[in-house]
Amino acid sequence: MQPFPMIHQELCTGCHRCIDTCPTHALAQIEGKAQLYQPDKCTYCTACEDICPEQAIELPFLIVFAANQSAT
Ligand code: SF4
Ligand code: SF4
Repeated sequence: MQPFPMIHQELCTGCHRCIDTCPTHALAQIEGKAQLYQPDKCTYCTACEDICPEQAIELPFLIVFAANQSAT
């Protein structure tokens, strides 16, 4: 099973950019915050993480990759 994007609710301002950007409509705005509404549709393309101005979205495998890079 693939990992899913994590949306930090405390950082999300509800700007809607990630929802508008997601090519598969996996995200939705619920009670003013972005949520991974349809996880089975997520292709892990990273577009939502790239566009979020608040760094509220993390894609876990990229965090591991970044940690490996900084250790070298
Ligand atoms: S990683 Fe891509 S497909 Fe998945 S929620 Fe973000 S924009 Fe949508
Ligand atoms: S782009 Fe970031 S701040 Fe804007 S709705 Fe999505 S998660 Fe929230």
